[in-house]
Amino acid sequence: MKDLKELKKIEQFADQCMKCGFCSFFCPVYQEEKMETSVARGKNYLVKQILAGKQEFTHEMADIIGKCLLCKRCAANCPAKTQIDRVVVAARAELVKEKGLGAIKNFAFRKVMANRKAFGKYARLMQKFQWMMPTTEGKIKHLPDFIKGLGKRNFPSLSKTFLRDQVKPVYKPQNGEKPKMRVGFFMGCATDFVYPELGLKLIDFLTRHGVEVVVPEDQNCCGAAIYFSGDLETGRMLADLNIKAYKDLNVDYIVTACGTCSSTLKDYQKYLPDTEEQKQRYEEFEKKIKDSTEFVIDILKIPPQDFKLRKEFEGKVVTWHDPCHLVRYQNIKDQPRAILKALKGIKYVEMPNADMCCGMGGSFSVYHYDLTKKIAGKKMDGIKATGADIVVTACPGCMINLIDNVLLNKMPQKVHHFLELVE
Ligand code: SF4
Ligand code: SF4
Repeated sequence: MKDLKELKKIEQFADQCMKCGFCSFFCPVYQEEKMETSVARGKNYLVKQILAGKQEFTHEMADIIGKCLLCKRCAANCPAKTQIDRVVVAARAELVKEKGLGAIKNFAFRKVMANRKAFGKYARLMQKFQWMMPTTEGKIKHLPDFIKGLGKRNFPSLSKTFLRDQVKPVYKPQNGEKPKMRVGFFMGCATDFVYPELGLKLIDFLTRHGVEVVVPEDQNCCGAAIYFSGDLETGRMLADLNIKAYKDLNVDYIVTACGTCSSTLKDYQKYLPDTEEQKQRYEEFEKKIKDSTEFVIDILKIPPQDFKLRKEFEGKVVTWHDPCHLVRYQNIKDQPRAILKALKGIKYVEMPNADMCCGMGGSFSVYHYDLTKKIAGKKMDGIKATGADIVVTACPGCMINLIDNVLLNKMPQKVHHFLELVE
């Protein structure tokens, strides 16, 4: 007898659906496939069928539940406030309980990503062989979807030296004065392995503004790809390890340059708790988490006009892409725009559908790369319409996907994190 524990926790959200179909106008997957199973209404219906014992966990069902970017565009526009992200994550968790993770995810999530040291070791190994990775389409055929999805894209090079090997445990304010606050820096995997300069820039920026920064060595992956795939058990383990890593550091806030990491750390309390004690612990942790964009404006209260443009960007036309994990998961949209609009020396142009998902969706883009490219194609149309030279965002995951699709579409734009634009 199945207990369907995770689905029962979110039953109320699936029940809220009024079947109005409004979500179909906003769902990037539905807009490409025009299938009822793609959109929130169809997924809610399926989950209710499972709860009523009228539907089994079949392969087809796994495919339907897997085909969601968790972009929350449907939820943001749902008149009944259905939380499809929670419905999808709970359904994926039940699938993992019943069918297991599969060999590749099991290895990637539990043996590699869940263990900081092992992750570093495998990343270094990949580094040695990355020259062999195809960077154009269609070179690897007849391989499992997972490998094909990784192999076909323009994949950024791993950094020669990972951020973890470049950082010190503590950074004092550069003015030599008493720190105005003490923050923990959370690096996240993409910043650690691919964009270490972003982490160093953030630390430099914070210490220039009188902040003391601590970087605990035993921080881990935030767990986004893992628990959004339904592996709640490993997700809880990572949540507990991360909370422990910052527990005795006496920090006022924990800041990250990755929009997905900040939202994932804040949302442990939403997706993971199994007990009331866990929920309280995750809620306490959430209060400390700040994305870099909100920290500099809302906490440090740096006036937007005080940000200085780096010389190399002078005269450029710039547009902003809203990462789903910033705009809908954390309601962060005004802070980065305020900085970009106030920066002297650039022209800011708003992109049509700036808040539309870029199509990445974590492992979604690995399993459904063709769909990712179609969804990203619409994002590329928006970028072209602005005439921008630079696309700015604040999530390394989005940066990887935007760069891939800018190259695939032979577009001239460069993609940068907002931290790269400012002095
Ligand atoms: S918009 Fe909301 S209420 Fe309407 S069908 Fe979609 S999920 Fe259901
Ligand atoms: S979260 Fe995004 S991809 Fe998933 S059903 Fe909603 S709009 Fe579609």
